Amino acid sequence: MKYDVVVIGGGSAGYIAAITLARKGLKVLVAEKKKFGGTCVNNGCVSSIFLYDTSFLFARLPDIGNYYGLDINVKLTNSIFNKRNEIVDYLSEAGRKLIENSGAEAVLSNAEIKSEREVRLTDLDKDVEFNWLIIATGSSPDVEGVKGYEYAIDEDRAVNLNYTPSDMIVVGGGYAGVEIAQIYARLGSSVKLLTRSKILKEISDDARQYIYDALDFDGVDIYENRKVKEIMPGGKVVTEDETYEGDIVVLATGRKPNIPRGLCRLGVEYDDDGIVVDKNLRTTNPRVFAAGDVIKKPYVRKTAHIAIVEGLIAALNILGKNVGVEYDYVPQVIYTDPQVAVVGREDKAKKFYKFPLSANTRAIIHGMRDGYVKLGINEDNRLVYGEIVGYNAEELINSITLAVKMKVNVEELSFVPLVHPSISDAIINAARGFNNLDADVFK
Ligand SMILES: Cc1cc2nc3c(=O)[nH]c(=O)nc-3n(C[C@H](O)[C@H](O)[C@H](O)COP(=O)(O)OP(=O)(O)OC[C@H]3O[C@@H](n4cnc5c(N)ncnc54)[C@H](O)[C@@H]3O)c2cc1C
Repeated sequence: MKYDVVVIGGGSAGYIAAITLARKGLKVLVAEKKKFGGTCVNNGCVSSIFLYDTSFLFARLPDIGNYYGLDINVKLTNSIFNKRNEIVDYLSEAGRKLIENSGAEAVLSNAEIKSEREVRLTDLDKDVEFNWLIIATGSSPDVEGVKGYEYAIDEDRAVNLNYTPSDMIVVGGGYAGVEIAQIYARLGSSVKLLTRSKILKEISDDARQYIYDALDFDGVDIYENRKVKEIMPGGKVVTEDETYEGDIVVLATGRKPNIPRGLCRLGVEYDDDGIVVDKNLRTTNPRVFAAGDVIKKPYVRKTAHIAIVEGLIAALNILGKNVGVEYDYVPQVIYTDPQVAVVGREDKAKKFYKFPLSANTRAIIHGMRDGYVKLGINEDNRLVYGEIVGYNAEELINSITLAVKMKVNVEELSFVPLVHPSISDAIINAARGFNNLDADVFK
């Protein structure tokens, strides 16, 4: 069978590429070897954010009730895991149905490159021909470098556990490790977090201190500068100085690209960080595009929202457009409580201003005063950077993302009448702060 486009991988990047192309009338096949929806739906964003929400409510509802004068008692039950599985299955199935609804064909099979123009669907024992190929095979936990990794579980499995372990050791102080540590500590596990240097080393010292204090408050024992030598059976982690004991070890030690077998047959260049692509997401073989976690990216973290944009761009370029991917305004969110969200290029900012949420009326009403909105501007007074620590930073960062993308002048931003009282109001106050116009703060 011959297709205009074969897409390998039915995750965030693959599904949008396939749908875009099929809606324009191309004959498209998507091969997915596990579950449609990929990592984000099946063992990434959806599972972890569901558990984040649950652990947030469980840990904070009594205090929130107390604040408002309500008496709220919360009891944790194992149904939370059933509910998470239900949401994951619903979204995975929706992903497959959306692909089929667009007119593309969706098959469950591993795919390998057979020749310059052919893909082998190994589970179906079938070969298909393509005119264009999109590789959207994502990434997997990179654990093999840790001796005894087979006695541990990886981050993808950690967010899909169906119980709360009593003693968990998390190895890795990046986004995933920190999020998993806080979630399970809040659900009742006793958690030790071991990291090679410091936790969340890529974020600002201010933001890190908030997370450090929050983890400490939730009872997570943080051990920084610990080099893990080996994982032993029965939940033991041996470091250079000490042996730590738990009943389950989670390795959140980074990810590696999933390079499909036979890629070398296409002359596509890649290395340990992923497939090399140009701005249009074309690989070194002009008939082959790649998108999502499998590609080598500059300075941004690999996330679902940039994978989605890349899938769209790869598809549009196959359709004859000339769209380039831009990484200067990809927001990043850490789903801890408080949340941390960052967008833009801190290195391009010449001046910063930070507005505290404790001076924001809506945050005061809400009883969620922890955190701040920080903006950074360049020499032309244009917004190039935003950083938020606080409740719902995941939503607030989107407005700043638009402003950074549009290179908005900070003075003009000061006159935008955002709803008052709202937490977003803090963004406008931060903008006003550059000219000492943020009247809500004591000076
Ligand atoms: C715990 C965790 C939490 C996360 N939270 C967030 C978050 O909150 N927000 C966010 O934006 N991102 C988050 N991410 C990252 C996000 O999940 C990924 O960036 C995103 O899924 C990448 O999309 P993708 O399409 O490149 O790859 P994937 O979604 O991984 O899809 C690739 C698909 O290709 C399939 N595949 C691989 N090889 C083959 C083959 N040879 N043949 C056929 N099929 C193949 C795989 O089975 C997979 O389904 C999280 C990740 C993890 C692990």
